[in-house]
Amino acid sequence: MDEKLQVFDNVLQLVGNTPLIKLNKITKDFDGDFYAKVEAFNPGHSSKDRIALHIIEEAERAGVLKPGDTIIETTSGNTGFSIAMVSIIKGYECILAVSSKSSPDKIDALKAMGAKVYVCPAHVSADDPRSYYSVAKRLHEEMKGSVYINQYFNSSNIDAHFATTGPEIWNQTKGEITHLIACSGTGGTISGTARYLKSQNKDIQIIGIDAYGSVIQKYHETREFDASEIYPYRIEGLGKNLIPSATDFDYIDRFVKVTDEESAHSAREIATTEGLFVGYTSGAAVQGVKQLAAEGVFNKDSKVVVIFPDHGSRYMSKVFSDKWMSEQGFFDSQTKEEAQAIEY
Ligand code: PMP
Repeated sequence: MDEKLQVFDNVLQLVGNTPLIKLNKITKDFDGDFYAKVEAFNPGHSSKDRIALHIIEEAERAGVLKPGDTIIETTSGNTGFSIAMVSIIKGYECILAVSSKSSPDKIDALKAMGAKVYVCPAHVSADDPRSYYSVAKRLHEEMKGSVYINQYFNSSNIDAHFATTGPEIWNQTKGEITHLIACSGTGGTISGTARYLKSQNKDIQIIGIDAYGSVIQKYHETREFDASEIYPYRIEGLGKNLIPSATDFDYIDRFVKVTDEESAHSAREIATTEGLFVGYTSGAAVQGVKQLAAEGVFNKDSKVVVIFPDHGSRYMSKVFSDKWMSEQGFFDSQTKEEAQAIEY
């Protein structure tokens, strides 16, 4: 950063240091103070900027990556976008192997950020040579000097949040935080932040949000993988059908499960009450807060930090589309007049 001119050298200097914003309306009936850590303020509009930058810079320090080398990952979501952004600034090739289930909008966004996208068939098993896992692995093995981010099984994912998200929240709350509420996908955000916060005060309660249809909560309770928990659900980026090693279950006190429908309504409510246009999993996190408040988990001295992982613009054809909401049956509890009013 050029201090004299107050100009940033490049967009990567804006990664992290996201604001903590008080929730004033959506949590007004609950005991305690609630603050959102709004990760959409990252330049790539999500918390994944942190892990993309951290993992790539770690590979540079280890001498694995040199300019012109290639970075590989298997995601059409936030992580892919963040890796593409970091790759442009640092001069790397970015290859993303994605499932044919990914929406054209998402694939176009990755291409717009200079990534080479391999679209792989969705309905093959992970060990099929055509699957996006196999394609990424093969490309990584073939390309000397390439780095495979592999966010679900990369411990640097946890380190990124230990180094940045955790200290930021501790400092922003002057150490007064009592509860952390975070969605768990790879588990990197919750685990890394928890490790830092518990190193400062082991009494801080760490609560993960999981989806119905995911194995994570059950695994936390039993330490056993229960495939009968798995069924399709709509929230993207939350929960999983496998156990990621980027989740450190020992630092998480408990999980809460949320539904697709209630999370979608909560995401819309965050926009209309707090003026914060954030994504589906931010809605899931607030839905979790509502359930925890109903259980009596918080009291008037609670200082609760809720992570809002990404921006609402990524969900225009889903949660923020009345048509999509109707198609999912998420407006069924409304009156006929209300339902007609939202049709277009
Ligand atoms: N929300 C969204 C939108 C995400 O993309 C992710 C990442 N999969 C998460 C929440 C969960 O973050 P983490 O992977 O760090 O657990």
